[in-house]
Amino acid sequence: MTTSSIPGSETLTRRARTAAEACGVETTLMAGDHPVHSPVNGLPIGGVTFSSGPMVDDSVARARTAFVAWRRVPAPARGAVIKRFGQLLTEHQADLGTLVSLEAGKITSEALGEVQEMIDVCDFAVGLSRQLYGRTMVSERPGHRLMETWHPLGVVGVISAFNFPVAVWSWNTAVALVCGDPVIWKPSEKTPFTALAAHALLRRALREGGHPDDVSQVVLGDGPVGEQLAAHPGVDLVSATGSTRMGRSVGPVVAQRFGRSLLELGGNNAAVVTPSADLDLTVRGIVFSAAGTAGQRCTTMRRVIAHRSVVDELTKRLVDVYERLPLGDPTAEGTLVGPLLDASSSSALDRALREAEHQGGTLVAGGGRELENEAPDAYYRRPALVRMPGQTPIVHAETFAPLLYVIPYDDFTEAIALNNAVPQGLSSSVFTRDQAEAELFTSAEGSDCGIVNVNIGTSGAEIGGAFGGEKETGGGRESGSDAWRAYMRRATNTVNYSGELPLAQGVNFDV
Ligand code: NAD
Repeated sequence: MTTSSIPGSETLTRRARTAAEACGVETTLMAGDHPVHSPVNGLPIGGVTFSSGPMVDDSVARARTAFVAWRRVPAPARGAVIKRFGQLLTEHQADLGTLVSLEAGKITSEALGEVQEMIDVCDFAVGLSRQLYGRTMVSERPGHRLMETWHPLGVVGVISAFNFPVAVWSWNTAVALVCGDPVIWKPSEKTPFTALAAHALLRRALREGGHPDDVSQVVLGDGPVGEQLAAHPGVDLVSATGSTRMGRSVGPVVAQRFGRSLLELGGNNAAVVTPSADLDLTVRGIVFSAAGTAGQRCTTMRRVIAHRSVVDELTKRLVDVYERLPLGDPTAEGTLVGPLLDASSSSALDRALREAEHQGGTLVAGGGRELENEAPDAYYRRPALVRMPGQTPIVHAETFAPLLYVIPYDDFTEAIALNNAVPQGLSSSVFTRDQAEAELFTSAEGSDCGIVNVNIGTSGAEIGGAFGGEKETGGGRESGSDAWRAYMRRATNTVNYSGELPLAQGVNFDV
């Protein structure tokens, strides 16, 4: 089922401009020489100018200067800036949501949800600004106090992916700013307008608070601009979100100069469906995670590992839903599946479908291209469901498109082993009403992922928990819980108020 006609370029360009201007973006910034395409119709909606090498160097120099002032601002006062930023995001939620839809192709509800996530993380960071706690430890020496203090780290470089064009930056930035670190952001080259709009709102909050603008900066460009940030000795922490390929390049470059990196990379997320699963709930959970965002979330469900006794019934129900998913213009009411980002995403889906077939798979639903006549430059693909005889090589790779493999299992420990057998380790779920299975899946012998869910899909995390994953997903943690520690440096302090000089471990060194 397709939902509506696809808007033309003039309409989309006008909508993008109006939304960006409402957030405070100067129109001249949207008329650069690098075209920005909307996946909605595949055509340009404006352009941006990429930052040159010297411009990136200059940004880092300005951020280092801003750091000296910003780290002196008390953390609760830094929190006040984020509080104001959260208010501005609330006022402009619809504008930013429009830009997210136009640049990333998300349906309106998910685009607004992405902005809501920014607002939520601002709330979290405001509270955090009064809770940057260190511990005190008992000293083994009389008249000594032992404690740890947490200090601002320095300049944070944020490299972000197209599929969460603003939320991931806000997870990093709201937390980094209350921790006392300026941020330089290199957004995806596919979604620069959304970035400029969100950034304009943060700059406004900083200015209203009387703080230096340079606490938050944006540099625009593609891979090479990201590479420059990663290699720059003036960037203390590089927080990079994107493909494992990008992380393989960024990680060693940052490590080589002993910088810190926080990597949030690809996922290959599975749900285990056991014989006791509530199939109605399971189907809803799977479809949201596998077909939502047109399969373009790092946490998108890419594998269903279903017990042999339920796999046929589950597949039948999934096929039924897949065939009637409303697909079309993501900004139109009722649409649940929007477009893929571009031609290369669409080709990746075709390649994976071909390989899956060669490896014994059977396409049981979807996979086709739709709306080709209405929008020949856009890539609307019906989410694909493929039955696989086992976890063949193609199933080990992340194809960033709506492609769900269904694999049977016989024994629960085998299902856990299959869940863990891929190189990525981001998100996972089990659908079961058997408490022992749920406990085992979440235990040390269970899923090896950073996110382990029970009776809920793999996507749609809340900001309160630390977000991230293991193995090729990079090991980083962002957003809630104690993820803030990555943005600060820890000092251990020993204070001697005894008037004597007893040495630790009973060492004698009398002079
Ligand atoms: P991508 O790797 O192509 O690009 C991500 C960002 O890295 C962009 O800003 C890009 O310009 C930059 N970049 C590319 N090469 C670089 C290099 N050598 N050095 C420095 N920067 C470089 O990814 P994408 O297509 O925008 O996003 C999809 C991918 O991101 C998927 O693999 C998805 O799983 C992953 N992702 C992961 C998370 C997570 O939290 N784990 C979240 C969102 C997306």
